[in-house]
Amino acid sequence: MHFGLKDTVLAVQARTVPVLDLLVGFINTDILPQVHETDETWSVEQHMEQVRDGFKHLTDFLALRMETLRSRLDGYESSTASCRSCGQFTVVLDAGAQDLACLLCARQYGTGEDAAWEFIGSSKHVSITDGGGDLNGCSSCGAYSVISTPLASSPGEDSWICFDCGSTYEGVCIFCDQAAELVPDMDMCGDCYEIRLANF
Ligand SMILES: [Zn+2]
Ligand SMILES: [Zn+2]
Ligand SMILES: [Zn+2]
Repeated sequence: MHFGLKDTVLAVQARTVPVLDLLVGFINTDILPQVHETDETWSVEQHMEQVRDGFKHLTDFLALRMETLRSRLDGYESSTASCRSCGQFTVVLDAGAQDLACLLCARQYGTGEDAAWEFIGSSKHVSITDGGGDLNGCSSCGAYSVISTPLASSPGEDSWICFDCGSTYEGVCIFCDQAAELVPDMDMCGDCYEIRLANF
């Protein structure tokens, strides 16, 4: 787990919860039953009570924060990505994003394009310096801000989404690199399909 300088306390807390949860569970089921000395048992129990208290406090706090965000998250699941800092699905990619930020931990992402680059762990500058290309283009808004990342609507898999306008796509055309509605059973957009058809 890496905590960067940009991470707020809240971001660190949110990412610590699942780890603490595992740890407390492990201590409860695998460690505590093995402690037999009466003195030790008592002292371990005292410490564990403190840990459980702190942990409860942390999870309650996060649950409360998420609850206050409900109205800004519900209904936007298919255009909400998970924050690079706190790991929660609290980055809503709305239309024409200029100053994207995580609703939970307030991590700033800049424009939709900046955010898309940051999500894939790179930047336009680095990519161009390394002789790499741009991100995939969006056939709805024309921005080069399309990447594949898990969304709140299907957290277990990557989905194609434009970080500028929030449009989601089934895939990217292998000929023109545009995210678009693809011709059924082909990795090709309608435009490229017609061009190829005309050339036959
Ligand atoms: Zn966050
Ligand atoms: Zn777009
Ligand atoms: Zn195409």
